[in-house]
Amino acid sequence: MEKNIQDFIDLIKKKNPNEPEFIQAVEEVAEAVIPFIEENKQYQSDKLLERMAEPERVTMFRVPWTDDSGEVHVNRGYRIQMNSAIGPYKGGLRFHPSVNLSILKFLAFEQVFKNSLTTLPMGGGKGGADFNPKGKTDREVMRFCQSFMVELQRIIGSDTDIPAGDIGVGGREIGYLFGYYKKLRNEFTGILTGKGRSYGGSLIRPEATGYGNVYFAQNMLKTRGQDIKGKKVVISGSGNVAQFSAEKILQVGGIVITMSDSGGYIHDEQGIDEAKLAFIMDLKNNRRGRISEYVDTYSSATYHEGERPWSVKCDIALPCATQNELDGDEAKALVSNGCICISEGANMPCTPEAVEHFIHSKILFAPGKASNAGGVATSGLEMSQNSMRYSWTAEEVDSKLYSIMNDIHEACVTYGKDSDGFVDYVKGANIAGFVKVADAMLAQGIV
Ligand code: NDP
Repeated sequence: MEKNIQDFIDLIKKKNPNEPEFIQAVEEVAEAVIPFIEENKQYQSDKLLERMAEPERVTMFRVPWTDDSGEVHVNRGYRIQMNSAIGPYKGGLRFHPSVNLSILKFLAFEQVFKNSLTTLPMGGGKGGADFNPKGKTDREVMRFCQSFMVELQRIIGSDTDIPAGDIGVGGREIGYLFGYYKKLRNEFTGILTGKGRSYGGSLIRPEATGYGNVYFAQNMLKTRGQDIKGKKVVISGSGNVAQFSAEKILQVGGIVITMSDSGGYIHDEQGIDEAKLAFIMDLKNNRRGRISEYVDTYSSATYHEGERPWSVKCDIALPCATQNELDGDEAKALVSNGCICISEGANMPCTPEAVEHFIHSKILFAPGKASNAGGVATSGLEMSQNSMRYSWTAEEVDSKLYSIMNDIHEACVTYGKDSDGFVDYVKGANIAGFVKVADAMLAQGIV
């Protein structure tokens, strides 16, 4: 079995040189899924996993735009249409200078399994550009989005491919993208999710990834007779996922003691309460400021420039910033400081060494493809509301999100429970996600 896994990884490495993030994501899935395939004959034909690791289509395109002073800039845009076996491609757009083919292929690959776990009919995709919205004026961001959409509109559609937000793509960018699609195509359809409320967005979509992450952590803790009340929580990031993870933690009685951005982290041992979180939301969403500014207003806190928050003693850790932001040494520090639960809000924030240490230590660890699936699940609910031309209330969407997260947890337990009762959520999520896509691919022939 080890040999089959190694042969498969070697093949992926050979086919995708210089794509370390993509190889990392495929390797994690292969280690869980290949042993399962070997025990289940029906999945041994037709090179299922090999086909899943090859995008159905990759589009790369030039995105020229003009800044406020009239200078022309050229960025590179991408859309990875990874797998459409169980529904139209679905997955976010990331605007960040680090964006490249490897990162988007890893995200698209993860998305296939995540979307399958939601039980909704969505295939997997991802896209974006190496554009940095930071420091740009609203008009510059608008011109960039319009130029990006000139190309993207050729390949998306409400029954084909429905992008959403991700790092650097929030409500402002989705609005500009949607507006230009409508102008180019002369049609008002749900081709993007994460839209504003006034033009087809769903209630709870902005909150969904963070809320869902906390619902998943609650489910994990329940398996050990514990809950979040009174527990200290370390969060990284201060963007969409981090903010709403923090909001839900406060609602259920937890104490948030850190948040961060790419400059460093703030540590407030007295707790980031509702008023302090509102300050952070205004700082990041409206004033587009830096997390370091928190300590100018709240003297109870300290700022740690260029550092990550994983050395802070806590019960629960929620990495909500970006990939590979928590390494093996930091995982050891968390565990030895008494952390019992890690739930990934970001995609692949923990390195393979960190994941291995958490599982080896038998603490609760949720991979992002399960714990952050609430965002895309609610995007699926936004698509349903758009098709019906109808809006559910916040309570209706939140209760659907809550039960989807419970179902994802159940699926992980079903496929991830070891003989000693320990639940390996990485194994569980990968196998549960694989089964539905594999069944659909088998039914549809070699395509
Ligand atoms: P945002 O752009 O809203 O926030 C990203 C946060 O992460 C910011 O605080 C940012 O800091 C920080 N960050 C970004 N890059 C780095 C880096 N290299 N090192 C340290 N910190 C960094 O993005 P989201 O909150 O939407 O996304 C966060 C993560 O969650 C991503 O992995 C994304 O793929 C994942 N995710 C998002 C979903 C969603 O619905 N939005 C759904 C599922 C997963 P700074 O401001 O300094 O850049």
